[in-house]
Amino acid sequence: MITNDYLQRVLADLQKNHPGEPEFLQAVEEIFESLQLVVPNHPEWEEAGLMERFVEPERIVIFRVPWVDDNGKVQVNRGYRVQFNSAIGPYKGGLRFHPSVNLSIIKFLGFEQILKNSLTTLPMGGGKGGSDFDPKGKSDGEVMRFCQSFMTELYRHIGQFTDTPAGDIGVGAREIGYMYGQYKKIVDRFEGGVLTGKGLTYGGSLARTQATGYGICYFSDEVLKYHGKSFEGQTVIVSGSGNVAQYCAEKCMSLGGKVVAMSDSKGYIYDPNGINLEVLFDIKQKRRERIKVYADEVPGSEYHEGCAGIWTVPCNIAMPCASQNEMDVEGAKALIANGAFAVFEGANMPLTPEAIAAVNEAGLLYTPGKASNAGGVATSGLEMSQNSIRMSWSFEEVDEKLHGIMKSIFNACLAASIECGKPGDMMIGANVAGFLKVADAMMKQGVV
Ligand code: NDP
Repeated sequence: MITNDYLQRVLADLQKNHPGEPEFLQAVEEIFESLQLVVPNHPEWEEAGLMERFVEPERIVIFRVPWVDDNGKVQVNRGYRVQFNSAIGPYKGGLRFHPSVNLSIIKFLGFEQILKNSLTTLPMGGGKGGSDFDPKGKSDGEVMRFCQSFMTELYRHIGQFTDTPAGDIGVGAREIGYMYGQYKKIVDRFEGGVLTGKGLTYGGSLARTQATGYGICYFSDEVLKYHGKSFEGQTVIVSGSGNVAQYCAEKCMSLGGKVVAMSDSKGYIYDPNGINLEVLFDIKQKRRERIKVYADEVPGSEYHEGCAGIWTVPCNIAMPCASQNEMDVEGAKALIANGAFAVFEGANMPLTPEAIAAVNEAGLLYTPGKASNAGGVATSGLEMSQNSIRMSWSFEEVDEKLHGIMKSIFNACLAASIECGKPGDMMIGANVAGFLKVADAMMKQGVV
């Protein structure tokens, strides 16, 4: 509940002006709930219209993306880039290609990205983009033609000092490669830092592919340690089976956890012996098939239709790594009833507000995605550093830096939670610690 007058007013205006943007409004309300603990200490923020400016993107670009499919038919998709906040650095945030993409989803992701990027300690502002294009079932040629058309418009809005996109759902190394190639051709410069998640032969960073998933586990491990626990011997479920879920599962296993269930948008697999990642990686990365195939190939495993069913699998720790609002209150209740003690978010905003309330009420450990999944963008920042100094660090060097950053994010969140009188509350800690730096920069830069 938001009780602070100033925040209530800003939120009410936003709700009135953007009724068709539920995900964005959900993200703002969630963040305001934490920020009301610090807003009363800063009357100067209201005078400077700080919160009104904070919730309004600096710029939104929406554009047509025409391309020709393999049958010679013209297809048209819609492209988006929301450049939300550049107070502490050039806009940075991924591109999502998924049929569900709309302005509300891109705005919520861009808004969360401001705080996430601030938490990494690197100089990166917040942005996000994407398209309602669905790469699933498309040939490489179709994906290439779409990416080229997308970049033919986007290139004029980005640059290493302006806005530096990366991947997200539906945008992996293949898509980044096609977009980078088109950008380079148009601007006629090898500007490595403009996109991250690049291939290793043209400026990519070792460990970027693994970074988000590994980072989630490094962060969660700090939370577990703080509470006198560890991953060792824990039964874990990881939803999703994309980039984030795969490497979250890998690191979790290497820290001693046993991942018994994973999913995609159609259903989930259960393997009581622990997911065989070699098989899973082959299915997802090489063959680009659905997760269902796993159950056909691994004896003793099962496939169940319906992705939400994954929350009914008994576990100690749940790590939602697929998409926003994938766990509703029913899912949360099922986890609680089965005795889970922690929910560590990997995706962006995967729990509905009601699910978060249920998890908190039941006293489970809970970490928000904006803190725990910040390792992806942090390593994108490291990729840009390597591009700038024209050097490549080893996998171990990058992984070590990532580990250090995740520990420092945990410490920053913990310190902020203690200052707010809510020790260990990672949601409050992440929102407050991330915001204070951005607020300070915005105040010092005047009304812009
Ligand atoms: P991928 O496209 O690699 O994988 C997404 C996975 O989630 C797939 O298994 C997909 O299933 C599933 N999924 C997508 N939409 C839904 C849905 N509506 N309901 C259930 N399952 C769904 O994406 P990533 O792994 O990169 O991203 C996963 C999450 O992590 C997102 O929230 C993203 O914003 C966040 N994130 C990603 C970062 C990165 O570095 N990639 C960095 C920080 C956050 P299917 O194949 O059936 O569509």
